[in-house]
Amino acid sequence: MNIIMLGPPGSGKGTQGGLLAEQLQVRHLSTGDLFREILNDPSHPLYPQVQVVKEGKLVSDEVVNLVVEHGIQKPEYQEGVLFDGYPRTIAQAEALEHILTSTGQKVDLVIDLDVSREVLFVRILGRQVCPKCKQTYHKKQGFQACPACGEALVCRSDDNEETIVKRLQEYDAKTAPLRDYYRNSRAEYITLSISDASLSPDDVNQQIMEVLNQRGIIQDEI
Ligand code: AMP
Repeated sequence: MNIIMLGPPGSGKGTQGGLLAEQLQVRHLSTGDLFREILNDPSHPLYPQVQVVKEGKLVSDEVVNLVVEHGIQKPEYQEGVLFDGYPRTIAQAEALEHILTSTGQKVDLVIDLDVSREVLFVRILGRQVCPKCKQTYHKKQGFQACPACGEALVCRSDDNEETIVKRLQEYDAKTAPLRDYYRNSRAEYITLSISDASLSPDDVNQQIMEVLNQRGIIQDEI
């Protein structure tokens, strides 16, 4: 099964994507994580092209498509992929369709995390991440180190107020049109509307699983 997590920055694509990938037994592929790794490696051939991440702008479609196409050729991605943060433009969606069609696959499910702007700001400005295992936390939880692996938590360099505004503008202009693109596609499309900042990741995950069950996309025992 190939799944796309759609939603603005801070909507929980990474957190929910991680949980769902495990529950549905597909590989989790986060383009944001791939680019952050490249940003930490000045010798990487794509290092100059991903510097735009720091300004809250999108990496070019050409570079993103190249990285994804290369990534999902690995054998462990053949059983299905949960795409977190990809596609982000119509051109990327078309490229993905082309890549999947060439191996007889398609996008099966799109999960649209429709989170209010107020909740996005609360989440992004308090976000802490583990650089090692990529788990995400909120400052209000009071952790200094990752409870899962013990690594010191850090804030993402693009999680500041100025960059968030730019990332939301990029989302509205380039990514939001994907909602209609996928609503009109063959993929199953589910939307979760979230305007309550106190909902925990487990609450949201439970809601997603309930909808997937109700729609017959997964069976209870999964
Ligand atoms: P994320 O971790 O998904 O919030 O992504 C962090 C940043 O990586 C984004 O703000 C973009 O600069 C870049 N990025 C991640 N995925 C893509 C994509 N599919 N297309 C273009 N840029 C991307």
